[in-house]
Amino acid sequence: MSIPVLYGHEGIRSRLVGVIASGRLPQALLLEGPRGVGKQRLALWLAQALMCENPGKGRGSGKGEPCGQCQHCKLVLNLSHPDVHWFVPVELSKKGADADKQLDLVAEALAEEMAARRERPLYEPPSGLASHGIASVRLVLRRLALTPALGHRKVFVIGDAERLVPQTGAEAAANALLKALEEPPADTVFVLTSSDPNALLPTIQSRVVRIRVARNADSIVAVFAQRVLGVRSQRELAQLVTLADGCIGKLLASGEGGRGSAEAAEAFRAAVAQGAVQRFAFALSQQPFQARGGFTEMLDGLLEQLRQQARQGGSGETAKVVEAIASVLEARELAQGNVNPQLVAAVLADQLAGLR
Ligand SMILES: [Zn+2]
Repeated sequence: MSIPVLYGHEGIRSRLVGVIASGRLPQALLLEGPRGVGKQRLALWLAQALMCENPGKGRGSGKGEPCGQCQHCKLVLNLSHPDVHWFVPVELSKKGADADKQLDLVAEALAEEMAARRERPLYEPPSGLASHGIASVRLVLRRLALTPALGHRKVFVIGDAERLVPQTGAEAAANALLKALEEPPADTVFVLTSSDPNALLPTIQSRVVRIRVARNADSIVAVFAQRVLGVRSQRELAQLVTLADGCIGKLLASGEGGRGSAEAAEAFRAAVAQGAVQRFAFALSQQPFQARGGFTEMLDGLLEQLRQQARQGGSGETAKVVEAIASVLEARELAQGNVNPQLVAAVLADQLAGLR
């Protein structure tokens, strides 16, 4: 099964095909923007544009855009192009295994994840425990050394790149990755994505060209919900569009995902329910910088719970839940900027307490 076609992001798409055509595409890019906005989907589209044999020739494809019909396009859309390496954070259970074994385990975990996405293309955010560990970095380096199998280029898509974490004892591999980002082999393009770019290692930040991926218009989210998710009722459609807030991926997250952040979200809601002192204590327990990723995950967990509540809630309560969602979204924006998570948590806790 192929992944759904890319909806929206026309501005970035036409800029990207423009720089590809002029041969000026930077070789290390960072697509940054809200979670669920479609950064990794856009990265795959870019991979397709780089691989396509007949750009601009497909039905409905604009100037220089991938045709969607050639062998390369089909393989990318089917997540099986041998020269498009999509790395997503994975959870590894066998800690004790030696380095080679761990590398095999990562390759297996990634292959499984891709197989699952082929079956069920609308995937959910990774669990809080998944990361790009050192074995993933080594696998990138190994694949970097390969000659392209089909085309004349290789594309590495590294999703949730803020989960590339430094590990002691693995400096050589980390440095090799940094060097590759700084001067990629001539046939290679790196596309990193992050919804929390400030949590990215500074050594990585300084080596990538940052591109901001903005939210889609509500009309685009609505078309996606109708065509891909089969939403018929106008009322449900309006609700979904409001909750998605321009991020199609938010339509796809269900109660199954984000288990890691759900607990933290529960703790936060409990603190809100208890009173001012507990709220303040909870806010202070947020760590200023290191845990920024964890904090935004907690907010995501909170959003998830509120969305479920909005779906189930009786009419009297829905307005408050929608207002609470708006507050959390605002807090998330602030947390991604340069505002201290302790402050953001304190303000949000007060707002939520006021809505109770
Ligand atoms: Zn094509």
